[in-house]
Amino acid sequence: MIIYDLCCENDHKLEGWFASAQDFESQLASGMIRCPQCDSIDLRRVPSAVAIGGHAEPAPLPRSGTATFSAIPNGSQAMALYRQLVNAMMAATEDVGTDFAEEARRMHYDEAPERAIRGQTTDEEYEALKDEGIELIRLPVPRKEDLS
Ligand SMILES: [Zn+2]
Repeated sequence: MIIYDLCCENDHKLEGWFASAQDFESQLASGMIRCPQCDSIDLRRVPSAVAIGGHAEPAPLPRSGTATFSAIPNGSQAMALYRQLVNAMMAATEDVGTDFAEEARRMHYDEAPERAIRGQTTDEEYEALKDEGIELIRLPVPRKEDLS
């Protein structure tokens, strides 16, 4: 699974999840990926790809209610894969909800036991945590009813 940061011709940012680089290329070529804000299919990658998998320790999983993530292809194999991934991560992490930023910080500064957590942050909190050197990844989490 690969996450690409994408940018449309109007400089809107979005994130897309793809099974592979080829998957991304073919979806892009067939116009399946659209900017959620202006519906443009003229998208390009911005260089901050993150690959999931092979990492020994799960990172904390913040979730943002404000970012847009419409590049996940609906009903496709990639979506099924993505749901499995999210389900696995939900099962392996402790939900700290909106306390995520605080809890991640306490863990980072050894004030709380190290563990895999997930929760919500604002964009500002997310950037602040990254600036403090706290490892985290941001995931577009589908609505609960989509996860069954
Ligand atoms: Zn756009």
